[in-house]
Amino acid sequence: MELKKLSEHIWYMPYESERDRPNLGYVRGKNWSLAIDAGHSAAHTKEFYALLEKENLPLPCLTLLTHWHWDHTFGMHAVNGLTLANEKTNRHLAEWKNKIEKNGPAEFFAIHESIRKEYSENKEVIVKLADIVYSGQLTFDLGDCIVKVIQSEAPHTDDSTLVYIENDKLLFTGDATGDDFFTGIKDAALSRKLAETIKTINPTICMEGHWVPVETDDTLNDLLSGV
Ligand SMILES: [Zn+2]
Repeated sequence: MELKKLSEHIWYMPYESERDRPNLGYVRGKNWSLAIDAGHSAAHTKEFYALLEKENLPLPCLTLLTHWHWDHTFGMHAVNGLTLANEKTNRHLAEWKNKIEKNGPAEFFAIHESIRKEYSENKEVIVKLADIVYSGQLTFDLGDCIVKVIQSEAPHTDDSTLVYIENDKLLFTGDATGDDFFTGIKDAALSRKLAETIKTINPTICMEGHWVPVETDDTLNDLLSGV
């Protein structure tokens, strides 16, 4: 696996289907750097950091979470620096933290084969809450690189965060444009709301959680197809 450079300020470790690992994003400004999504497990996070170190990129000071799903968040306990999530994401994480600490990981492992693959060899499942919780919108200045963090309604989950790298006109959407993982339903009204939000942000490129970067029209067409 190689780290890919996407634009002036952005790199990413590409997604992998077998263990349902999403793209992990990295944004570097003149003063500091951040990551988008923490990873499926500590092993995933550590592989990402090894790739950053190979390119002489400093480890992120902050990791932003696009939504609560395990493949984006359960590596949180292994991140460098702090983590940030919206209040709904943190509520979902708290629910799973309690469940796993009380009853063990069986219910979690039962969700999907890809999880059992990621956590093979009895790897421990550790769920952590975010260090910083926000609601609405935030702006970070990494040093000549502006990052906007935007809470949004979306068909995939009720806790989406979009991350817009203003200087590079690139939007990280997480899995926001996908259907609901558990029901397979893509709600039409929520899809249209998300499409409006993306059009207002007006990125050139969209980076979904489990796909290659594409032009925004591709993402919008896909989001609105069949709704
Ligand atoms: Zn998801």
